[in-house]
Amino acid sequence: MELEAQQPETPPGITLLHYYSALLQRFGAQRWWPARTRLEVILGAVLTQNTNWNNAALALKNLRQSGLLRWDSLRRVSLEDLERLVRPAGFYRQKARTIHSFVEWLLARHRGSLHALFAQPPQELRRQLLQLRGLGPETTDAIILYAGKMPFFVADAYTRRILARHGLLPVAADYASAQTFLHRHLPAKVELFNEFHALLVEAGKRHCKRQEPKCDDCPLAPFLPDAGAQPQGILRDYSSGASMACPEETT
Ligand code: SF4
Repeated sequence: MELEAQQPETPPGITLLHYYSALLQRFGAQRWWPARTRLEVILGAVLTQNTNWNNAALALKNLRQSGLLRWDSLRRVSLEDLERLVRPAGFYRQKARTIHSFVEWLLARHRGSLHALFAQPPQELRRQLLQLRGLGPETTDAIILYAGKMPFFVADAYTRRILARHGLLPVAADYASAQTFLHRHLPAKVELFNEFHALLVEAGKRHCKRQEPKCDDCPLAPFLPDAGAQPQGILRDYSSGASMACPEETT
């Protein structure tokens, strides 16, 4: 199935980079997850599923205060204690199980070495992570991008919604199709994917709401297919059934 909508003269890659520039100019660099350990990024990616970042941060704070942002401590914590500590993030039983399973798997498969995990070829790394309990494509790609520093675009619900409303993707484009489109048309740069994803989330939170897009003051308004025309307000709820990887994705 051909998933790229018909586009006028400008190549999609150029259009996307224009979006990136406009968003960066308006919102500034988001600098997601700077100066964090890879383990903390992984835990944050799990904890922010289906909740906002503030709740995930509270759970991370509990883990930090209990000394569990260190691998040698985390590998010894009980599932019950994990559940208690990550409770502020919601879905705490599920998230505690995901973290616990990941720890056990990393010990068994990679001798507990994040270095060994991320030393694998990217596609193999992604394949392995996707097989783990509780890790969907968004969480997996957030881990690979932000902890592994490998260029996998997190094609989350906000990204798909914005690109669909601008005619770059069909409304029904799924995660894999959207990611394929972005990988095909953007240079495979970690810094670009990192910042662009964060900026699209910011645009989604501030302007491109699921039911009522606020185009008037949106930095992407000049790029609407028919400038001046408002997009349809109600699109498919892309978030159903998908894990969430980044702050505030449930807006
Ligand atoms: S709010 Fe409007 S202009 Fe902004 S990204 Fe959404 S559809 Fe585009």
